[in-house]
Amino acid sequence: MNNETKIAVVVGAGISGASICFALKKRNIQTILIDSELGPARHASGNPIGVIYPFLTKHKLAESEFSLAAFQYFLSVWDEFHLKSFVPHVDGIYFLMDSEEAYDRYSNALKSHQIPTHVANEKLEPFSGLPAIFFPYGKSVSPVDLTKQILTISNPETKYSCKLLSWEELESDSKIICQTSVGEIQCDYLFLSQGFQFARDPRSNWLPLKKVRGQILKFPEQNPTNAHGILYGDYITSAINGYQVLGATFDEFKLEENPRPEESILLWEKLTSKLPKLSEKWGQQNPSLFPTRVSYRTQSQDRHPIAGKLPNISKLDLTVKYQNLLKVGKKHMEIPYYESVGILNGLGSRGLTHALYAAEILVSSIFEGQNITSESIFKSLKPDRFLLRMWKREQLT
Ligand SMILES: Cc1cc2nc3c(=O)[nH]c(=O)nc-3n(C[C@H](O)[C@H](O)[C@H](O)COP(=O)(O)OP(=O)(O)OC[C@H]3O[C@@H](n4cnc5c(N)ncnc54)[C@H](O)[C@@H]3O)c2cc1C
Repeated sequence: MNNETKIAVVVGAGISGASICFALKKRNIQTILIDSELGPARHASGNPIGVIYPFLTKHKLAESEFSLAAFQYFLSVWDEFHLKSFVPHVDGIYFLMDSEEAYDRYSNALKSHQIPTHVANEKLEPFSGLPAIFFPYGKSVSPVDLTKQILTISNPETKYSCKLLSWEELESDSKIICQTSVGEIQCDYLFLSQGFQFARDPRSNWLPLKKVRGQILKFPEQNPTNAHGILYGDYITSAINGYQVLGATFDEFKLEENPRPEESILLWEKLTSKLPKLSEKWGQQNPSLFPTRVSYRTQSQDRHPIAGKLPNISKLDLTVKYQNLLKVGKKHMEIPYYESVGILNGLGSRGLTHALYAAEILVSSIFEGQNITSESIFKSLKPDRFLLRMWKREQLT
């Protein structure tokens, strides 16, 4: 290793950390990936099957533009790296428009975002007979295999069973010192993607992120069954390796790890009431006997991911009121950052679709100092948006 070699440490081997490694690999940055678990994709990214499709709003918003661009970026990586040969998946997602309101929102979304019909089109979903948006390249995928495959392409040095305990940026030579459960690691760049465990990091725990409990139900592939994933408030995936998944429940208040049998029953009842033509052929089933998995999403206050350079709030002069600064004529707030530290978190319930693009935006902003997307998307992702809001409301002290 020559003296010039710069090293990046990525914390968290979920889909976010894997996506950051991928963006670093594109730039030939030597990368060490650490995770406190024994291997990758053990938490939110560890479900047996998930769905990939973009989030759309009636009118163009930064959130929906980001989601659509992220979906297209995902598909470009999928094609370029032949992921279809390595990641178990089934193409095609129906998104039901099962009320007038939903129809108004989503059918107009196709027009306002000028989405070509090969990406999404209106179609009747055969089992419900309801109008739906069909994403031919949307997918049911194995999140674990997707994460592992992105890591195979990215090929970082991996350190599992290695927990980040603390870190600091040295002002003298801008190195970052990470204290981990297995010793110290020095690096030039640090990327944080700890999922819900972000709250243990005192330098990022001011971010308004929530840990949200979710439960899915895994059941044996039924015959006949849906060829494509269907979203109807909940979702049913296509069958992969002999199983299908029903997802997902949502609880931000009670977070116990034990599965709740009543949620399995509820998921099943919603399926049978929304898609009776599908489930009636399966005969009597006892959903409380099917395996479940509980995991935790990390959701930001505005439900949009957080991707950007990490603000250094210890350098903000919080004795000065935000409003007073504006009164003395400052139009823009100078935000101090940890210059070589990035964060990717808050991917909520769409991490599989969003992580690769969010990571590319994050890594390019730190390495090239430039924004590869529109200004509004870039700003909408930055952690700064919460800092300013919280400063205004005096919530940072
Ligand atoms: C029930 C459920 C269903 C979902 N379904 C879908 C779906 O169908 N489609 C979709 O797109 N998204 C879905 N999601 C969302 C998606 O799974 C998440 O957005 C995504 O997995 C988040 O990935 P992540 O890498 O940010 O977090 P995680 O996968 O949780 O990874 C964080 C990693 O950081 C590690 N870590 C934490 N702290 C430390 C530390 N101090 N040191 C070292 N390592 C550390 C953890 O061990 C973990 O491996 C679902 C989520 C849930 C909960």
